[in-house]
Amino acid sequence: MEKIAILCSGGDVSGMNPAIKRFVEYTYAKGMQPFFVYNGYEGLIDDHISEAHYEDVAGIMIRGGTKIRSARSVRFKEASYRAIAAENLRQKGISKLIVLGGDGSFRGMEHFYNETGIAFCGIPSTIDNDINGTDYCLGVDTALNVIKNAIDSIRDTASSFRRAFVIETMGRDCGYLALVSAITSGAEVCLIPEIPIDIHEYKGCFESQIRKGRDYFIAIVSEGLKNSSQVARWFEDELGFESRVSVLGHIQRGGNPSVYDRLMAYQFVTHAIDALQNGNNNSVICYTKSHFNFKSISEVALNPYTLDEALLTLGREQFAPSHCQM
Ligand code: ADP
Repeated sequence: MEKIAILCSGGDVSGMNPAIKRFVEYTYAKGMQPFFVYNGYEGLIDDHISEAHYEDVAGIMIRGGTKIRSARSVRFKEASYRAIAAENLRQKGISKLIVLGGDGSFRGMEHFYNETGIAFCGIPSTIDNDINGTDYCLGVDTALNVIKNAIDSIRDTASSFRRAFVIETMGRDCGYLALVSAITSGAEVCLIPEIPIDIHEYKGCFESQIRKGRDYFIAIVSEGLKNSSQVARWFEDELGFESRVSVLGHIQRGGNPSVYDRLMAYQFVTHAIDALQNGNNNSVICYTKSHFNFKSISEVALNPYTLDEALLTLGREQFAPSHCQM
């Protein structure tokens, strides 16, 4: 019986558990034997690898995070530890691996494949949605829904107290989460690395809005800019508006997986297992223009991600200070 393992590496996302459930079910359906690797590449090195059963995945569909845990591994960057990891898999007769992770994890896998020939398929998983070559990464939809709920709640209190709220979203250097959240929550301001805006340009327009009765502001700021507190201070100093910063932080990574992430998890895993069975040994399953397609590691991990141009155009139109409604 062919043996195949799954692991999660790097930041965890909601949607990993549905992927793990599908992995076990579909592997058995295909006549193969499924294995879990716990704690990412650390578990590969430490031989934290065990056979997976149906009962292991019962009831995990609704849970965020990952049942088999995730980790970052400094040791895996060294060839000597990768050799130990490969030996652990060989000892168990495991020749195929599915990796839920980001571009760093895939770069690690490329070394591993070149050195050991152990086949793998990567599934892009990060809430930042910043992996080149795929329009969608597992976990993004759940994160966006968590952010939406947070912004909606903050808006209630902001309007009751006449405050400006600066809400900082994750995303590292990628403004995707901030931009989509700002558009879909009707924020007044969206500041992301990809659309440079000088907050001072809003001053005249916002003063006019205040005169007409505006009693709150919502500004969404991407963490990559590292300027949330300066923006909050601007509302206080320039507009006389009491302000607060709300750093959403790790709540964005958790939560009950959305319907979309559950479905995407099922489809990503199905394609990954099919690919490995068909001899596609060294690829990442991507989702572009509403279709699944396989890409090489170099295409995915070695090029920087750029935000979709149509989305950027929407953002520029929506949030340009020159378009601010007086
Ligand atoms: P992500 O996969 O989300 O981008 P990281 O960049 O933290 O997250 O990478 C996850 C893990 O992948 C690292 O802890 C390391 O074990 C492995 N990794 C990353 N880059 C390399 C590399 N160049 N060579 C070997 N392993 C790597």
